[in-house]
Amino acid sequence: MTNYKMYVGGEWIDAAAGETFETKNPYTGETWATLPRGRAADAERAVAAAKAAFNSPEWSKMKPSVRGQLLRRLGDLIAENVEHLAATEVADNGKLLAEMRGQVRYLPQYFYYFGGLADKIEGGVLPIDKADTFTFTRYEPLGVCVAITAWNSPLLLAVNKLAPGLAAGNTFVLKPSEFTSASALELAKLVEKAGFPAGVVNVVTGFGLEVGEPLVTHPDVEKIAFTGSEYGGQKIYESAAKNFKKVTLELGGKSPNIVFDDANLDNAVKGVVGGIMAATGQTCVAGSRLLVQESIHDEFVEKLLAFARTAKMGDPMLPTTQVGPVTTPAQYQKILDYIAIAKDEGAVCRLGGNPSTKPECGNGLFVEPTIFTGVNNQMRIAREEVFGPVLCVIPFKDEEDAIAIVNDTPYGLAAGVWTQDMRRSLVMSERLQAGMVWVNMYRAVSYMAPFGGFKRSGVGHENGQNAIYSYLQTKSVWISTALETPDPFVLG
Ligand code: NAD
Repeated sequence: MTNYKMYVGGEWIDAAAGETFETKNPYTGETWATLPRGRAADAERAVAAAKAAFNSPEWSKMKPSVRGQLLRRLGDLIAENVEHLAATEVADNGKLLAEMRGQVRYLPQYFYYFGGLADKIEGGVLPIDKADTFTFTRYEPLGVCVAITAWNSPLLLAVNKLAPGLAAGNTFVLKPSEFTSASALELAKLVEKAGFPAGVVNVVTGFGLEVGEPLVTHPDVEKIAFTGSEYGGQKIYESAAKNFKKVTLELGGKSPNIVFDDANLDNAVKGVVGGIMAATGQTCVAGSRLLVQESIHDEFVEKLLAFARTAKMGDPMLPTTQVGPVTTPAQYQKILDYIAIAKDEGAVCRLGGNPSTKPECGNGLFVEPTIFTGVNNQMRIAREEVFGPVLCVIPFKDEEDAIAIVNDTPYGLAAGVWTQDMRRSLVMSERLQAGMVWVNMYRAVSYMAPFGGFKRSGVGHENGQNAIYSYLQTKSVWISTALETPDPFVLG
């Protein structure tokens, strides 16, 4: 049993009230760690520490190139601790070790990339159209930023925020999901080891309403970078508006994979199954709607069923496992409820559709990979995010029909297009209302490529060079070189 402490102001501390909560391993069902249960007093302490660090000469006067070195050092430390960090994620979240190893190995790149940008935040001298005036721009950090993350990819979601935000010179309070907080505290150990000044990165643990809300409403917080549900995002957006805080919101989706009759069907089958079954469908970009052109519908569905049937459930630590447990009991129930809704709506269950209690599923909460056909885009199963391994198949006639169906949703996170026709891939990528479009591939992310949602899938972007500007504010500086001040009552 590991008894974690929070990391605030460079110290490892208990919650002010001394309360704790437990975290369970989703596969074994056993409690493996306890965490401090933070509340308003802990939020207050963490924001004060982040504010003091922001104003401290150690951080505010640190040369940007040195800040970049610190970020790169953190990247190196993550690279040295891949196995430990990956195993922590598996124990806490139930994700596959194979996937987590790959993901954690990739995380240092975020710190190398944004660390490299730290000393390239350049203002400009403006060719201003006023006499005797020298005008230039500066980009300045915002101040204290709060990062709040979802449970499905804890480290990746935290790094998406910390890397650009720290490179820009801000300080952070990170509040990970109450279901998967351990890896954020493991990351904090590496932040400390890398040598960041105390208070630059703080990690508080606890529940959304107990410690998250006091962070979001705190007057000394300048920005909230949130990844989570549409409902959570809405609450945070509302409360941020009251105090004019900046926000980045990365929310949910109902993303489509669209398979045309000219596609390489075997490749498309792999992409579609990976898109919805990988990570047990618990990904924001899960390709949960499958649109198949009518002319190949039956043939494609048969191929899809044959491949999806081979997906192996089991212990996430085993390299042979492809589908792990559902992370939380609430999420498990939600998936089963949506399966029942789909059946009631008249969708035809062609695969799965039940909980799994096979011996290889241990004590975990497993749902069989599930495929529904006979779905139309007005059914709830086609409109609402399930966040599980549940795919619904919708036939379409032609490009126009596919575009109309895909865009008829309140969401717009991602979309996959399977075609060998160059013209079609360009037309589709232009007309689909989604923040990420993948053609003949699915579920790829990079620190280099902007990631964000259209419509109700989010506000703003993470990743890509511009992400650093979402953690900066612009200042124009005007200096008169005139010997005499002109008429002060006339705006010149
Ligand atoms: P959630 O909204 O329930 O919780 C997310 C985080 O917000 C948690 O840390 C929680 O404690 C905190 N929180 C909740 N209410 C709060 C409040 N009022 N004030 C402050 N903090 C609060 O979401 P979840 O169930 O953890 O995550 C699943 C959702 O996240 C899915 O909808 C998924 O699509 C989405 N997601 C989106 C992306 C993306 O990048 N677009 C990535 C991963 C997950």
